[in-house]
Amino acid sequence: MISAAQKNPIDPAGDVASDDYERRRQAALDRYRILDTDAEVAFDDLAKLASTICGTSSAVISLVDRDRQWFKARVGCARTGTARSESLCDHAIRSPRSVMEVRDLRRDPRFAGFASVREDGTVFYAGAPILSADGYPIGTICVFDASPRTLDDGQRQALAALARQVQHLMALRNLLGEQDSQIRDAERDRDELERKHENLRQLARHDPLTGLLNRVALNELMSRPDVRDWMRQNDYGLLLLDIDHFKKINDRYGHLHGDEVLRAVADVVRASIRTGDFALRYGGEEVLIILPSTPSAGIREVAHRIRRRIGGLQLGHPLTVSMGMAMGNAGSDPREVFKRADQALYRAKAWGRDQLASDTD
Ligand code: GH3
Ligand code: MG
Ligand code: MG
Repeated sequence: MISAAQKNPIDPAGDVASDDYERRRQAALDRYRILDTDAEVAFDDLAKLASTICGTSSAVISLVDRDRQWFKARVGCARTGTARSESLCDHAIRSPRSVMEVRDLRRDPRFAGFASVREDGTVFYAGAPILSADGYPIGTICVFDASPRTLDDGQRQALAALARQVQHLMALRNLLGEQDSQIRDAERDRDELERKHENLRQLARHDPLTGLLNRVALNELMSRPDVRDWMRQNDYGLLLLDIDHFKKINDRYGHLHGDEVLRAVADVVRASIRTGDFALRYGGEEVLIILPSTPSAGIREVAHRIRRRIGGLQLGHPLTVSMGMAMGNAGSDPREVFKRADQALYRAKAWGRDQLASDTD
């Protein structure tokens, strides 16, 4: 056994054979989170360099885990690891500052029985311990061959230097991993914020009492150029609904009951329109319904359906609504269409409520 000192400023305290030292050594290895990861070119390159410089058929970067050694990189080696009890590297790391070199494993009673010696025909071994950043030997970069031999001083020093390169590479790998996870965290936070923001926007667009869209949503809709263009180029209908004598209902049955009535009316409206239609709580007890691409007969049908269903609500008292309807055509100004619906509603009220009036009446 010949040694080449590895310069590392940190030398962890403790007997390398003690359980406590082994626990700390294992923890140091685990911190790298490298066990069972995919092969990486940078590690493969260092193993290739080791076998080239040392002139051996094989080289591996071995990490000594609890009860096994696992190879992060391997050249000319079919195994992906071995049991720790059959690990040459496990012996190498017991002298963390030396390169362990065995000229002929067959003649060393400690190793002669190992499967790698008996079955694979490994005869020569040299391993340089890889130290963690805090100085624990976590594995080796080692070379081996099928005939007895030795390394010269230059090769031994090169192997020790490669072990330090593996340490640097592992540190770099962890840094990059941390950076990746920080980026992932930042992206997750951003997505979460966007989701919250979108939820808030959704909340702001809806009336909390009835769940219908509100004026904020209407303004947002009407400020969208694509919607404005669509409304200028297509036919649509507007229905403006207003609960009759709602003030009296509030006065007689209380505000809370009034709220119930509003919710019931909203439910009826929601259930009476198609997807693609919009229902908005336009005022206190007014609902605006926008029905795209619907002919006036279709609008009337929807209006009558709503009025009939509201008339059938079991609220403990009769309930009626008045409705104004207006048709928007290609070229008409949506504000002007709305005005016509409003005027129609006014007429429905003036003519005795509980009815539908149209802008053509
Ligand atoms: P008309 O038949 O002419 O429409 O009479 P009305 O009493 O329904 O009309 P008016 O506009 O005078 O009254 C609307 C009432 O709606 C007044 C207001 O207190 C009530 N209101 C507005 N928002 C709410 C609400 O969120 N809950 C309840 N319970 N009442 C509301
Ligand atoms: Mg009103
Ligand atoms: Mg009213």
